[in-house]
Amino acid sequence: MKQLVLMGLGVVLLTQCKSPSTNENQDETMENKPVAFELSNIDSSIAPCDNFYKYAIGNWQKENEIPGTEGRWMSFDVLAKDNEAKIQEILDESLNAENPEKGSNIQLIKDFYLSALDTNGRNAASFKALMPFLDEIDAVEDYVSLQKTMAKLKRYRVGSPIGFYVGVDDMNSDEHIVSASQGGLTLGDKSYYLKEGEKYVSIREKYVEHVNKIFSMATIDEQNAGERILAMETKIAQISWDRKDLRDADKTYNKMTVEKFDSDLDNIDVASILSEMGLSAAEELVVGPVSFYTELDALFPTISVADWKSYMKWHLFSAYGNHIDDNFQKASFEFFSKEIRGVEEMRPRQERILKTVNGSLGEPLGKLFVEKHFPKESKDYMVELIENLRSAYARSIQGLTWMGDSTKEKAMKKLKSFTYKIGYPDKWKDYSQVDISADNYLQNIINLGVWRYDYMVSKLGKPVDRDEWYMTPQMVNAYYSRANNEIVFPAGILQPPFFHPTFDHAINYGGIGAVIGHEFSHGFDDQGAKYDWDGNKNNWWTKEDEERFKELTSKLAEQYSTYEVLPGEFVNGELTLGENIADLGGLTLAYMALEDVMKNEEDPMVDGFTWQQRFFLGWANVWKGNIRDEALRNRILTDPHSPGEQRVIGPLVNLPQFDEAFGCAGTKMSKSDTARIKIW
Ligand SMILES: [Zn+2]
Repeated sequence: MKQLVLMGLGVVLLTQCKSPSTNENQDETMENKPVAFELSNIDSSIAPCDNFYKYAIGNWQKENEIPGTEGRWMSFDVLAKDNEAKIQEILDESLNAENPEKGSNIQLIKDFYLSALDTNGRNAASFKALMPFLDEIDAVEDYVSLQKTMAKLKRYRVGSPIGFYVGVDDMNSDEHIVSASQGGLTLGDKSYYLKEGEKYVSIREKYVEHVNKIFSMATIDEQNAGERILAMETKIAQISWDRKDLRDADKTYNKMTVEKFDSDLDNIDVASILSEMGLSAAEELVVGPVSFYTELDALFPTISVADWKSYMKWHLFSAYGNHIDDNFQKASFEFFSKEIRGVEEMRPRQERILKTVNGSLGEPLGKLFVEKHFPKESKDYMVELIENLRSAYARSIQGLTWMGDSTKEKAMKKLKSFTYKIGYPDKWKDYSQVDISADNYLQNIINLGVWRYDYMVSKLGKPVDRDEWYMTPQMVNAYYSRANNEIVFPAGILQPPFFHPTFDHAINYGGIGAVIGHEFSHGFDDQGAKYDWDGNKNNWWTKEDEERFKELTSKLAEQYSTYEVLPGEFVNGELTLGENIADLGGLTLAYMALEDVMKNEEDPMVDGFTWQQRFFLGWANVWKGNIRDEALRNRILTDPHSPGEQRVIGPLVNLPQFDEAFGCAGTKMSKSDTARIKIW
């Protein structure tokens, strides 16, 4: 999914927001008053110019403790929880379907749900469905059969350092190509293996214990497996690229023939791996982290075949740990959720089942979700908002003082070419061939994984399908696709507190308006700007303008790198640069678009706030949340988005419009005119 730049990751619970349609106790005399910001969220003991985030949503933070089952609790999570309740209704209704036709959406949903509900059956079967894979690993005798087995088990989600996949060719957005990325680290980021400090040492110790525990539960006799696997993964971490380098579209585009790549590597047999993966038709491929592969090639034979086999068995259990029996699920939770993200307790059984079914059959469920829960007027209003944002963007580009005319012309061409999708796909993916039965949960999980893998492999040699969606309709999220030069807004996010057709304009523009601006801006962030109107990596900048752009973006990276979010741990300004550019641009553009709308309207002055103030309150409102220290540490290492508080404050200190709205000039929430950063 390298071509996607996701806006924010949506997860979990309780809604605070009140939409007029759902608030039955609304005072009748207030009927015509547009819904604005929830006043009770404000912490008036904090000055807006001291910390606007704490001011705007500080009370919400105090009143909404993170549930024990979660690592963080944000607007996104609250809304996702709402959506899940609607999905639960669909699941319950599916049980009433009598003998649904095999392969129909309702059959898939009903039987998968039944298999997940069957705890006794699942516990009795335990990991029986994984036995054929264990046998395959046991049969490995040498490095040749090892690589073949690694490649073959990709289809069954078993991780390894070799990360081949089919994606869109960055330089030819109509076609697919095999890409080689890096992989193989269970803990998700190399820092967990390499960083000094008590917390990291402790996580590594717990990791060793966890691996040993899983092997003992599986009654597989692997001496010191935990210690050996940590040592292997540490070696892989040492040759892995940093996330900030993996974001770099230039460094990671190294197209070559399969023959050339193969001849550069002595020990890794590329052609054989491709063949086992069902990708023997590939003649060329794009290698991302080139040095990772040359160093992995040298590392490969220094690790014994026996150790690699232990490693593969571990990755097999790690891929399915959450889906085996209750004991495996609990052990997985204890390490990955509790140790790594600080979560206190497991979600209740029903909630776990719901999340799994929703995650596995997202599109078939999404189809039923939008039939019930996505009003047509939302789509019409969104089209209007998107076009208003596009107009504002055009005015902004024309007025930029740092960019020359010829680059502006190209930027305008790109802006005009953006397409968008709203709500749900016109064309749904075909799941009818997936074999789902009511009594074999783990096998269902395997079959769905195989379907996804085969779907990916089948793309090689076919033109890119511009109608495809990379998110499900019920997700609380949005994305920009570079290859399609397209912004996409699933139905799941087109709800309060982000958006409602009857909301006060200022709140809609500060919410979903800024989200739309954010996604547009990804087309012009430090990496997106390397791609043209056709979605191809193709430099349309003059040298001078490119230099000035880099100067501006590096100032923004510096700004965010000063944010210390835990003692001694800072936001990584380079890793989060693309998202921070998108936030700053998005908010600026949404403000301009709202300014346009308000020219022709009288400000209703809701709750004593001007439209300008409500706009910024709306922005803070979508990022309100609480997060645990462990989850925060995990995110600053792995997430290209800044944490919620910095997402709100980072752009505001650069906006003179914010200063004016709250009278913040000369305070902590404001920079001097010469220090302000304006990119888009
Ligand atoms: Zn984004």
